[in-house]
Amino acid sequence: MGATIGIDLGTTNSCMATVEGGKTVVIPNAEGERTTPSVVAFSKEGERLVGNVACRQAAMNAGRTFASVKRHMGTDWRATVDGKKFTPQELSAMILRKMRQDAEAYLGTSVTDAVVTVPAYFNDMQRQATKDAGRIAGLHVLRIINEPTAAALAYGLDNGTPQKVMVYDLGGGTFDVSIIEIGEGVIEVLATAGDNHLGGDDFDERVADYLVQEFKRATGVDVRHDPAALQRVREAAREAKKDLSALASTRANLPFLAQGAAGPLHLDVEVTRSAFENMTCDLVERTTGPVQQALMDAGIAASELGQVLLVGGSTRMPAVQAHVRALTGKDPSSSINPDECVASGAAVQGSTLSNASMGIVPVGGDILLLDVIPLSLSIETVGGVATRLIERNTTLPVHYSQVFSTAAAFQTSVEVRVLQGERPMAKDNKTIGTFRLKGIKRAPAGVPQIEVTFDIDANGILTVSAKDLDTGKEQSITITDTERMSDDEIEAAMRDAEQYAAQDQVRRDGLAVREEAQRLLGEVGRALGTAGKHLDKEEKKAIKNDEAALRKLLAKRGDAAAAEDVAALRAAVEQLEQSSARARKLADS
Ligand code: AMP
Repeated sequence: MGATIGIDLGTTNSCMATVEGGKTVVIPNAEGERTTPSVVAFSKEGERLVGNVACRQAAMNAGRTFASVKRHMGTDWRATVDGKKFTPQELSAMILRKMRQDAEAYLGTSVTDAVVTVPAYFNDMQRQATKDAGRIAGLHVLRIINEPTAAALAYGLDNGTPQKVMVYDLGGGTFDVSIIEIGEGVIEVLATAGDNHLGGDDFDERVADYLVQEFKRATGVDVRHDPAALQRVREAAREAKKDLSALASTRANLPFLAQGAAGPLHLDVEVTRSAFENMTCDLVERTTGPVQQALMDAGIAASELGQVLLVGGSTRMPAVQAHVRALTGKDPSSSINPDECVASGAAVQGSTLSNASMGIVPVGGDILLLDVIPLSLSIETVGGVATRLIERNTTLPVHYSQVFSTAAAFQTSVEVRVLQGERPMAKDNKTIGTFRLKGIKRAPAGVPQIEVTFDIDANGILTVSAKDLDTGKEQSITITDTERMSDDEIEAAMRDAEQYAAQDQVRRDGLAVREEAQRLLGEVGRALGTAGKHLDKEEKKAIKNDEAALRKLLAKRGDAAAAEDVAALRAAVEQLEQSSARARKLADS
């Protein structure tokens, strides 16, 4: 069995950690960074890029670069590249695969298992899609856990005083607030609320707008329609925003941003913290509603909170911390790096689960995680009404059955539409699956008794079963969920990802051997120039022949992408190395 890691698969950044010798350790990626941008791109040559390399080329390759894919998880959104469509889970799998490979290189062992976190807001399809992404990336997802639950674990609150805690998580693209109850060996999520379209990106956008306006005011040039310039402005805006978490004022400086009639134009704008706070105060204020909603759903007042935990890079902003303090009357804790604490908590949970599977249970017993269902589950009944079976904020796992009947006489099948959401009418909620229950005994309306059972496991994943109580037989249910990938599709995506990984390796090998060939040809050319007179005719001829053969292979393809081409090139390099060995040695001496 390989190592187990915890992964925070974020909207803007992802982070991974593991537990070593009882301590959580954040695993840096291959570039040495502790977080990896959740960005995937396809180069014009067909190479798949993930993380920082994908970010760097984003402005020049916008149509083939995909960021914030997490916003599309569990939907029918697709990315189209060269006529091929990619699901959100396939793109997320590319991020997870890079993380797994980077973790393997760092830990020096294979990584097989992972605990992956999702926002408490995620519905069933989004959780399932996240699990599928892990599978496509070659990971066994031990469990999907909510981000706030992971944060509480990272803070080690499971070992402390029983209390109620608020987790305020403002990341790059989502805002979640959760109220958690920590008891004896139990962490229970009492309530969650949030806004999955609010995060640091919105703050960046405000600063970027300000910089664009100031630049226009100073130079008369509007860079809004120049993608490359705009990308630079956005990066400068993000840096300025981060600076302002520590400084009262900063400057955004972008030389040669545009070309004016009289020459190049430079952006140089001062941004003060107070100007920044003025232009973003409505964004901070937007977190108030969800905070109050979560407290109300949990049935507690802010004064009953033991602690408030800050999660997500955007909680570094002083205005956000001040707002949380004003809302809760508590000094929020941010002693663990807010970008890393979710991944650390996932690692803690991963370690507990893998130890448990090996029969190792920590002293004091296993920690039980009780999460809640984020949105109510209903089925559609006569008149398009959403009849609720499970209320939002019900603790997981949950098992619930209810008996239904037919609406029309002699109906032999019924369609059960499963809905997620809080609205009273079916059409206003999200349909997450439809079940056709067939083979009902012909009977007048209202006579057949059909028991529908909802089971939600500890991962928050829903399974539905149905039983005809008249006959006592279990009925087969067809789930027609167009947005969920089938096992076959997942297998196909895994094969595709593996094939790409193999092709990328061949491409890298190809580049390496081509470089080596060029270096050797240069060396041989110089050797023939200086030592040619000391070589006999036959030897010279052999070198010339091998040199020509190698040049021919190099000219054959732009980039050696087939394994046979790489092998042929390597053989030709070796041949020329041998035949020219004496000449090169003579030239050296
Ligand atoms: P996360 O999704 O938790 O990684 O949060 C990433 C967000 O945090 C991005 O929008 C970052 O720009 C933002 N962020 C990171 N560091 C800081 C900082 N020092 N001040 C303000 N925002 C930050």
